[in-house]
Amino acid sequence: MATSKCPVCGSPAKQAPTTGDFENFECSRCGKFEITGTALAMLPHRLEGGDVKTVARLSHSIRHLRVGTEDVAKVNSVNLDELASAPLPNVQRQMTHLLKWMAQQLQDDELGEVNLEDQKALTAIIGTIDEDRVDELINRTARDGLIENEVLDSYRISNLGWDWLRPPASREEPVIQPATQTPTSPTPETDTPAKKVKAHCNACGGMRNAEVRASFTDFGNDGLIEWSTKFDTLQCSGCDGLSVRKEHWFSEWDTVDEDERGRPIIIPGVETTHYPAKTVRKQPAWLGSLSDQTLLTVINELYIALTNELSVVSSIAARTLLDRAGFLLVGDQPNFAKLLAEMETQRFISGQEKDILAVVADAGSASAHRGYAPTAEQLGHIVDAIEMLLQRSFTMKRASDELRNSTPQRPKKSKP
Ligand SMILES: [Zn+2]
Ligand SMILES: [Zn+2]
Repeated sequence: MATSKCPVCGSPAKQAPTTGDFENFECSRCGKFEITGTALAMLPHRLEGGDVKTVARLSHSIRHLRVGTEDVAKVNSVNLDELASAPLPNVQRQMTHLLKWMAQQLQDDELGEVNLEDQKALTAIIGTIDEDRVDELINRTARDGLIENEVLDSYRISNLGWDWLRPPASREEPVIQPATQTPTSPTPETDTPAKKVKAHCNACGGMRNAEVRASFTDFGNDGLIEWSTKFDTLQCSGCDGLSVRKEHWFSEWDTVDEDERGRPIIIPGVETTHYPAKTVRKQPAWLGSLSDQTLLTVINELYIALTNELSVVSSIAARTLLDRAGFLLVGDQPNFAKLLAEMETQRFISGQEKDILAVVADAGSASAHRGYAPTAEQLGHIVDAIEMLLQRSFTMKRASDELRNSTPQRPKKSKP
């Protein structure tokens, strides 16, 4: 391997012979990486003027692309800009990077010492601008009691530091929790009581107590960056209904807070998804009595879109419903204005309702042609207007016809 200079940070680097379109470097700061000829040609322009921040971001990103894996980081023209623009971590995250890296060096020798002398490498590992900041971060981490200085540049991780690294309780669950209930026996008595959690229930409409019937967590990591995906099968304590909750945790989303004694604690960054998704608007019961299959299909899709907060799609679906309802009531018309006018003439809607439905049609048209996304409140009004029309024209009309037919006629008076 020839000695050369790192094209990213300018530190001394070893350069291995080119393989295909890649140049291979082993930089004392950025670590091992390979970079395509195109990305290499783009670099001087991206690092114009030797902007230390861009160099620090790119160096940190490259270091983390490879940490903990056998592979070298792969830099190419596609990911170069993304790597160079990823912001440097905040101080708490930098402390976590430092502690995790120290823990990696120590492995199971938790009382051991780690030498923090190589500040050039630490700049990229921790994600600071430069070596002075590494010095500052080490001092702060020591002042906060997370690491303890032994001699010169040797540090130990303190009990507080090990606590900081300990995964939050939710992550300590075993990878597989046996289901507390077997599929062959619907309501068996089990030895271990199911775990109780608070979860959203669509049927009960809000947060309810629920029991965790089964759970599975999949963990992953890329060196210092970790993630997990956990699926829980929940049974609502109110209605016995089943649902699935997915919790995706990503270490880069973690935030740091203080407990009541002022000690730093990590709040795990978790994104929660429910299946079926949380219902934002309940379907009215009379929808089931609509007889037109097209209306039913579109209204079902409208509710799926509403539940998933797809406002453009919801708005287009509402306009399609209006179009279909109008066609069923007054037949084919050349455009929406004529359709609404004909509906008014035939007294299916009032003049006031016509104006409201014209707004619904315009909003749907703007969504279809220009991607207009109404707010949740506006969508609420749109869906109210269209549902009122459907209910009156297709369900109440039929109910009143049935009522008229089943009401006994007043007996005719016999002529005197
Ligand atoms: Zn470098
Ligand atoms: Zn429920």
